[in-house]
Amino acid sequence: DNAQPKKPTWIRVKAPVSEGYKQTHKIMREHKLVTVCEEAGCPNAGECWSQGHATMMIMGEVCTRACTFCNIATGKPPEALDAFEPGRVADAVQKLGLNHVVVTSVDRDDITDGGAEHFAQTIRAIRHRSPKTTIEILTPDFIKCDPSVLEVVVEAKPDVFNHNLETVPGLYPEVRPGARYFHSLRLLQRVKELDPTMFTKSGIMVGLGEDRQGVHQVMDDMRAADIDFLTIGQYLQPTPKHHAVDRFVHPDEFKSYEKTAYGKGFLMVSATPLTRSSYHAGDDFAQLRTA
Ligand code: SF4
Ligand code: SF4
Repeated sequence: DNAQPKKPTWIRVKAPVSEGYKQTHKIMREHKLVTVCEEAGCPNAGECWSQGHATMMIMGEVCTRACTFCNIATGKPPEALDAFEPGRVADAVQKLGLNHVVVTSVDRDDITDGGAEHFAQTIRAIRHRSPKTTIEILTPDFIKCDPSVLEVVVEAKPDVFNHNLETVPGLYPEVRPGARYFHSLRLLQRVKELDPTMFTKSGIMVGLGEDRQGVHQVMDDMRAADIDFLTIGQYLQPTPKHHAVDRFVHPDEFKSYEKTAYGKGFLMVSATPLTRSSYHAGDDFAQLRTA
């Protein structure tokens, strides 16, 4: 059953051609850095990279999970963590002159602290080299780790702590096996408890098989966990082997989600077909700071 709904006109993918795109590409290669923009085949890469905005992925290219929407290779990661990686990320951030950087990772269930210390080192290295850059991290759920590992990450003081719920709880067994909806919610709630000044953020994809009511329920759960920022975007199937697209959500439905979400008290909402967890993250943040 691989029949897929046809891509509507509002899903456009811009060709990555600009000088800014090439420059970002070059710096990433030189620093041996992996970007989610490329790995996930993100439709915004042309736009984001031409503006020097990218999401870096640390801790390798092989993930110990196998989410059915995700194009990252699954398996046992071949390599130990690279102690020089935090420095390379910090160097690239400085060279690219980023105002806002998003750092994410694969899940490393094979490491005792899930990579918490590596995240903390990366945050500190960026802060040291680029004190004005705001730092957003998009973390794994650390489900197999001692709960105290979260403190290690929070103490490094990222500006935004993002962890995606990805979908409604009913679709977890199929879409996000290995993760638990309420564990992920609780993780974000604990970040806020540990440091009430830190912004928390989460996101879901739509078009995986959820309905409107389910989306509204996720918003309520997120607000109950004090989550500040929300992203909602259209799921796109990376290859025919991945979870099928259930439907293409109309832009008007996204608008209605945005309105509902602000009504529920989120500080910042991005809900459009091409919204990704890291799409325009820096602009949103700058806007909030000057508000
Ligand atoms: Fe990269 Fe995020 Fe922009 Fe996509 S939206 S190109 S993943 S920074
Ligand atoms: Fe992809 Fe993240 Fe799931 Fe790993 S945990 S398969 S990187 S979405």
